[in-house]
Amino acid sequence: MPAATGKLVILSGPSGVGKSTIVRKLLGRTAERLRLSVSATTRPPRPGEADGVDYHFLSHEAFASRRQRGEFLECVEVFGRGHWYGTLLAEVTPSLEAGRWVLLEIDVDGAERALAAFPEAVSIFLTAAADPAEALQVLRERLEARGTEDPEAIARRLEVAQRELQRSSRYRYTVVNGGPQEGGLDFAVDEIHQLLVAEGLPV
Ligand code: 5GP
Repeated sequence: MPAATGKLVILSGPSGVGKSTIVRKLLGRTAERLRLSVSATTRPPRPGEADGVDYHFLSHEAFASRRQRGEFLECVEVFGRGHWYGTLLAEVTPSLEAGRWVLLEIDVDGAERALAAFPEAVSIFLTAAADPAEALQVLRERLEARGTEDPEAIARRLEVAQRELQRSSRYRYTVVNGGPQEGGLDFAVDEIHQLLVAEGLPV
């Protein structure tokens, strides 16, 4: 009998929606049954980030030559940051062939490219509220409360988020991360976990 192949899971959504927090909590529940693909990026490491763990940190030159050699499943220059991010095929294909499940946590442009390459992937769009206008308002409030960006940067990010929120119908699932106030975070993690089990993730 041929070995079962694993599934690719693509989790995306606008910046600020809480993708990385959700992923951290989700991995705590799924342990080694779900493996997070380590992306490559040209952005410098933040304090506490380790090469090969948080990202494969590459120079612009190294990134470009790996891109030319066709080593990426998808890669994009993330808007407004001037840095490249991408999923290396080496992070995905060997695991899938070994029957493991692989999770991509990537931006909306990259997710669409990954879906074009793997149409059978389990795709999940994370949003801040079921209604797109309300979701945009929630993202605005979160960005303003965080206070890490000036009003111009916030306006730019919201403009991008508005376009991204209109693309949720391309995903198999939409999950609402209502934010910590409503216990929404754990609720969203539960929902994603349950839908992955329904998709066949071993329990
Ligand atoms: P950060 O620099 O804060 O770690 O990530 C910035 C953005 O890049 C996030 O929206 C994240 O989802 C996205 N990102 C991280 N890795 C990848 C990747 O491999 N491909 C794409 N397309 N986006 C990524």
